[in-house]
Amino acid sequence: MTAPYLCPNCKTNRSRFNIMEQHPQAVKLDPATGAMVEEYSQSEAGPFHASYQGTQRRVQCGSCGTIEDEQTFLKFAESHPMNKS
Ligand SMILES: [Zn+2]
Repeated sequence: MTAPYLCPNCKTNRSRFNIMEQHPQAVKLDPATGAMVEEYSQSEAGPFHASYQGTQRRVQCGSCGTIEDEQTFLKFAESHPMNKS
């Protein structure tokens, strides 16, 4: 399923974007050195490890450079449909 994007900042760009796929990795770091002690899948991280709550994609406007969650671009396009003239 695809839906149109519209930049909520410059309000004109509907076609040029940089899409960043998010690939969250749950890790345990050594608090002193920052070295990775353990890395696990989201389901293995355990009850004391908050799972990733962010969006799957971030989008950057190819015109003005604004970076927001994909939902922001989708919602703005939805509320500002293209003139069908
Ligand atoms: Zn923009």
